[in-house]
Amino acid sequence: MLKIHNTISREKEAFNPIHKNEVSLYYCGPTVYWTQHIGNLRGALCTDLTVRTLKYLGYDVKYVRNYTDVGHLTSDSDLGVDKMEKASEREKLDPLKIAQKYIKIYEEDTSELNLLEPDVKPLATEHIQEMQDMIKTLVDKKFAYVTDLAIYFNVSKAKNYTCLSGQVLEANISGAGAGDISDPQKKSPHDFALWFFRAGTHKNALQYWPSPFNSAQTENGNGFPGWHIECSAMSKKHLGNTIDIHLGGIEHIPIHHTNEIAQSENANDAKFVNYWMHNEHLLVDNKKMAKSEGTSYSLEEIKAKGFQPLALRFLFSQAHYRSKLNFTWESLQAAQNGFNHLCEKVINLDKASKPKVDNDFKNQFKDALQDDFNIPEALAIAHKLLKSNLSDALKYGTIIDFDKVLGLNLAYCNKKEISEGLKDKINALIIERDQARKNKDWEKADKIRYELTKFKVSIEDK
Ligand SMILES: [Zn+2]
Repeated sequence: MLKIHNTISREKEAFNPIHKNEVSLYYCGPTVYWTQHIGNLRGALCTDLTVRTLKYLGYDVKYVRNYTDVGHLTSDSDLGVDKMEKASEREKLDPLKIAQKYIKIYEEDTSELNLLEPDVKPLATEHIQEMQDMIKTLVDKKFAYVTDLAIYFNVSKAKNYTCLSGQVLEANISGAGAGDISDPQKKSPHDFALWFFRAGTHKNALQYWPSPFNSAQTENGNGFPGWHIECSAMSKKHLGNTIDIHLGGIEHIPIHHTNEIAQSENANDAKFVNYWMHNEHLLVDNKKMAKSEGTSYSLEEIKAKGFQPLALRFLFSQAHYRSKLNFTWESLQAAQNGFNHLCEKVINLDKASKPKVDNDFKNQFKDALQDDFNIPEALAIAHKLLKSNLSDALKYGTIIDFDKVLGLNLAYCNKKEISEGLKDKINALIIERDQARKNKDWEKADKIRYELTKFKVSIEDK
């Protein structure tokens, strides 16, 4: 039986879907204003492994992953400007073009990491009507109120507002807008915005829609939605009032997901989510990833250093989704070597006879998956399988069966790719060394020369 660690109960619970053998699953997708760093890609991969596992265990999964293309301000707490607008200024492109550009990059990255396509990929800007309907319900039921600048959810009206985070409200990092003193009509600093009128700090907002709400400071109720209402409205539209599993990064617990629950449950009079799953952070050199430190790496940077995207997938699969994972270039190199080694083993299996699945190993593999999606343990069983005394036909049939979950494309491993992967890696190191020499960084250049000797490559500078 599948057990899932539910953030809301903080316990591993037996999984009982609403409809037998069917799973509705929602994952908070990216805000498409920039290239997503590998920390966000880890979140998407954790979701992919969850979806693949559910399918492997025989469930029919409906998987929805949204794109936020409006309304996510530079601070999660209703402060600052819309991230799309900021990007639009930065790149001198209109927000629609920004969204298209970064959705394309994200989809190329997720495809190279061999992530399954979601069944629905809703855009926030295409669900304005659904959001306004939900906001109207919340206003009618007095869970929300209108000021000249915005419509706020009244946190004091929600029952168990902090049930997900377990924090007391005063300590809830949420306090959405805790530092926001720009709206004197706001009743409590903890209240969060459902709709921003095109007024006050947002009077020049680039993306806006008419609404049925009235503000003295703008015509036609013009404005744009808050970030949190987007997921409530899109999950309702595509999955219904109550969904089986909702996933997202751990950083969403105190604000975004807390607010999703408050909106959905009070608008729909129904439980919003049965199982909450949150993936932990990716660290780089044991620190939080930071653009300012140049450590919020993109997949492009990983590839430029000669690593295969699937080696990153292999690295990420070695940590459980609820554990922090520390990324270093050394750990990625070790993962690339480990992945090549695994591929070589699969290539060397004799494939003359018909592949078959070994039930004993399959059961061990399933047991690991059913224990809260323990992918590292499942990977260990795959290694054990290849080391076992089973026939090649059984080993091959079983590992290809496991790959439905692991997603490492093991049926397509070939020697050429491994040697070309090595060539790419060597070329990337040589380019990096030339650059270091140009910068007169002799220490780095020497380090790379040493690194190259590991590939039996020696360099002579003339
Ligand atoms: Zn969300």
